[in-house]
Amino acid sequence: MAFLENTETLIHEAAQILRLPKDILARLQRPEKILEFEIPVHRDDGSEHPVRNSTDAQAHQISNGTRKFQAWRVQHNSALGPYKGGIRYHPDSNLDEVKALASLMTWKTSLAGIPYGGGKGAVQVDPKKLNERELEELSRGYARAIWKDIGPQKDVPAPDVNTNAEIMDWMTDEYAKLTGKWEPATFTGKSVEKGGSHGREVATGFGGFVVLREFLKLNPKPSTLNPIVAIQGFGNVGSNIAKFLYDNGFTIVAVSDSKGALFEEHGIDIYKVLDVKEKTGIIERTQCYAVSRERQKERTPCEEFSSAELLELPVDVLIPAALENVITEENAGRIKAKVILEMANGPVSAEADKILAEKGIEVIPDILANAGGVVGSYFEWTQNLRGESWSEEEVLRKINEQLARAFKDAAQTKSQYRTSWRMASYIHALKRVAEKIKTA
Ligand code: NAD
Repeated sequence: MAFLENTETLIHEAAQILRLPKDILARLQRPEKILEFEIPVHRDDGSEHPVRNSTDAQAHQISNGTRKFQAWRVQHNSALGPYKGGIRYHPDSNLDEVKALASLMTWKTSLAGIPYGGGKGAVQVDPKKLNERELEELSRGYARAIWKDIGPQKDVPAPDVNTNAEIMDWMTDEYAKLTGKWEPATFTGKSVEKGGSHGREVATGFGGFVVLREFLKLNPKPSTLNPIVAIQGFGNVGSNIAKFLYDNGFTIVAVSDSKGALFEEHGIDIYKVLDVKEKTGIIERTQCYAVSRERQKERTPCEEFSSAELLELPVDVLIPAALENVITEENAGRIKAKVILEMANGPVSAEADKILAEKGIEVIPDILANAGGVVGSYFEWTQNLRGESWSEEEVLRKINEQLARAFKDAAQTKSQYRTSWRMASYIHALKRVAEKIKTA
């Protein structure tokens, strides 16, 4: 993943700016611990799990219908608190990627100002090829492999790509069986019935809204009255930030998902789009509703166009909330937005970043923009440790405070070092961890 290499370069540059001693930087570039293991899963049909290449086939011996899946947990740094980071299930997962993602979590939690370090886990598996029972066996197997190295004050895993609340519930339950006590604070992203938090589903989108709102307070251009927004991606993150923006008077003129894109120059009624998406699974052009005063009652077909064109609309705020590397040196020159809020991880390439800076387009980096999810996780952990259950309103109020503070820290660092939002975010994140190490 290009953005992970970019993270390493940014940390290097930030270390130079901070004149960080070489030994401290070297220490921060190595994970503190790597757990590497295989998880056996009995296949119900006795078949082999389709493998991508011969190396895979060799790595995972198949015997009597049992398949072994390669898995990792990387604990990058714990200077500021327990390791924190998701567990992903993906056929392309590999150790280098998990190491880089674990390090990214160290910087994200530090920037967010929460008492966590960074970690990440993965299983090299295509979960769509497993049935429900096999998925549960795999997930419980993962918890069994790492249980001695995790815990509320040691390492707190969470869901990530292709993992969800049900999987976290299985792992929490397995952990309880192994330790003999129910400790929900060992995992976050659980179902509400098993100690999950209200508001966790919307936390990342809400966090992005808070960061953008704070940014617009500091930068009254574009006009804060009714900014025009385009959003690429309408999944968890894209649809939730769309709701918060819509509720707060922003005009969303375009949205897209993997199947298509909608455009309505007067603004799209986001709740109608959500309704249709819930019923049909897609965002439908013919069911699009405009929201301008004159056309409020009217259902008008939105214009249909491509997700790539969406990126080039002349909007105030462009929000990539789907994929990595969608703004590159190829299209950066054609971007007309005034501000880009990176809700996806790594949507702007390093080359594109330079072109956008030359054009005067501000980029609010992923590490800050999408930190609402991990801040939400932190509040789930806090509730579990205190045996409390907060309302969604209370959780969002706390995320709001936490992220507004993180934004202020990044803004102060930006003006102190006269640098980009991205570099300022990394400088601030690195500084917090390095200072803790120096004083430890
Ligand atoms: P999701 O799977 O719920 O949604 C992804 C959306 O992107 C879907 O609507 C999909 O249709 C759309 N999409 C896919 N290809 C597209 C394309 N070519 N053009 C337009 N849309 C396309 O995923 P999510 O949880 O919303 O995550 C989105 C991004 O945010 C990812 O980069 C993820 O790593 C990042 N992120 C998510 C969270 C979280 O809490 N969910 C936290 C931090 C970062």
